[in-house]
Order: sequence, then structure tokens, then C-alpha cells
Amino acid sequence: MILEGAPVAEKVLGEVRAGVARLRQVRGVTPMLAVVLLGDDPGSKIYVANKKTAAESVGIASRDYVHPEGMSQPALLKLLGSLNDDPSIHAILLQLPLPAGLDEDEAIATIAPEKDADGLHPMNLGYLLAGAPRVLPCTPAGCLEILDHYGCELKGAEAVVVGRSRLVGKPLAQLLLARHATVTMCHTRTRDLAFHTRRADVLCVAAGRAGVVTGDMVKEGAWVIDVGINRIAPRKVVGDVDFASVSPRAGAITPVPGGVGRMTVAMLLRNTLRAAERQVGASSPSRP
Ligand code: NAP
Repeated sequence: MILEGAPVAEKVLGEVRAGVARLRQVRGVTPMLAVVLLGDDPGSKIYVANKKTAAESVGIASRDYVHPEGMSQPALLKLLGSLNDDPSIHAILLQLPLPAGLDEDEAIATIAPEKDADGLHPMNLGYLLAGAPRVLPCTPAGCLEILDHYGCELKGAEAVVVGRSRLVGKPLAQLLLARHATVTMCHTRTRDLAFHTRRADVLCVAAGRAGVVTGDMVKEGAWVIDVGINRIAPRKVVGDVDFASVSPRAGAITPVPGGVGRMTVAMLLRNTLRAAERQVGASSPSRP
């Protein structure tokens, strides 16, 4: 089975669209996302443009804070502080990576946790670790949404996560653990990667290395979630999983492109809606 991201993303976007309409009708509030983009990285510009288009499509407003020339760390912290204090802004998206020389950790920690659209604030990651999540990181939450949508049973499953970044691997492992999977995390110092991946009923790969997982490393029938996005030619993007050799063995696999990538923006907009709902005291039918 090919785990297409599009139908799952459309379902989430439909729920967000309905939630936005409800909030406007009941409270007269339109969720507002502040988009902060520093520097002139072409990839970041495309990501931000896609996020804004998707926001518009569900009725979420956005306001741009674009500084192609970059800015100093104190100026960035001041900007984030002013967005925290602005009651018309419900969520803040700080596009990463920041230009060289800026402290990403300090900037993320400066965003008010309740306005953290990406779910990467240390307090929100802490809530996840504590088993009481508030704002979920977008890409890991999108992976879970795909597994749920296509009916993967996580309880008791052997889940292996390749990669331990703050952005993907660590929070994804926590989400799987919260769903009662038995979770193994692998990274560059893991002695025998294939030994672990072959045991996985659910294998999630977020290493940022094209083809790091090949068919001989995957158990027959496994669910395979490929988070990787690797541009190997100007118009060719591949995942971290070698699709040609893995797909015949896997029971289910996400394609790249067209899998997890479709989910990240949808989850960002869900986070934005929920941030607005929390700030105006409106409840959402399902949380977090
Ligand atoms: P990252 O910060 O570079 O982390 C990569 C992780 O993979 C690290 O923990 C690293 O281990 C581990 N790793 C690297 N090579 C490995 C290998 N050969 N064997 C085992 N582990 C290995 O990357 P990231 O931000 O998590 O992103 C991972 C990938 O997902 C990238 O391709 C990125 O573009 C993609 N991504 C996609 C989306 C989406 O929307 N689909 C969103 C975010 C990221 P160490 O810790 O030991 O270095």
C-alpha cells in the first residue's frame, strides 16, 4: 500500500477550514499567523510561500515579517517579543534554518509557548515528554496522522526511528511511545543500523541521507514512513528510503514526494487554529 499524504492532508485541512469558519462565526475572530523569514535562502522562500497559500485556502490570515538582509540577534528577539505581545497575532512561524550567526535555540525559546506554531518551544517539547502534549511538532504529528489514517496498529508494535533531531526524530519517538509502541532510536553512532531496522513493524526514517535504508534492511510487511527530503538534482527530490528496493518488501510506504511532506503544512495550520482557539477561550472538538 502506498501511503499518500494528499488525502490525509486534505482531511486535516478540511477540519481546520471548518474550525476557522466556526471561530469567525462564534467569536468574530480570524486566526492570524505571523510569518518571520530572515535571509534569502531560496528553499525557505518556497516553503514560506507554500505555507501562506495553504493558510489562505483555509481562511487563516497571515502577516509577513520578511528581512532578506537578515537582522541581528537582539533585533530578532525584539521582533519576536513584540509579536508575543500583539493580541492580534495568534501564532508565530519562525522559518528555519536562520541565517548563519543567529542563535536558533534562543530565538525559538523567545516565542511565547502558546503562540508556537511549530511546536518546537522547549516548553511544548517538555509537555510532550511529560505525556501531556499541548502543541505538537508539525512533521512528527503528520507522520502519526498518516499511520492513523491508514489503520496502522501502534500498540505493542516494534517501532524504529532513524534520526534523533529535535525537529523530527526525538518528538516522533515520543509520540510513538505515547501510543504504546516499543521504540528504538537510531543515529550515526548506532553500531548496526540494519539489525534494528529489520526488527521494525513500523520504521520511520528521518536521517537526511538519500537511500540510507534499502530493501535488505526492512522486514517483510513493515510500515515505512520516509521523512527525508533530499534534492539530488534541480528537479529531483528523493527520500531517505530507497523506494525501489523497499517498496516490494514493505506492507505500506510513504512516497517522496507526496507523503509526509504534504502533512507538515496541514499540521502547522491546525496548530495555528488551536492557538487562536486557546487565546480566545474557544474549545476545539479534538485536542491537541
Ligand atoms: P538532522 O537535524 O540533520 O538530523 C538527522 C538525524 O539523522 C541525526 O540525528 C543523525 O544522527 C541521523 N543520521 C544521519 N545519518 C545517519 C545514518 N547514516 N544512520 C543513522 N542515523 C543517521 O535532520 P532533520 O531536521 O531531522 O531532518 C531529517 C530529514 O527529514 C531531512 O531530509 C529533512 O529535509 C527532512 N524533513 C522533512 C520534513 C517534511 O516536511 N517532510 C520536515 C522536516 C525535515 P546524529 O544525531 O548522530 O548526527
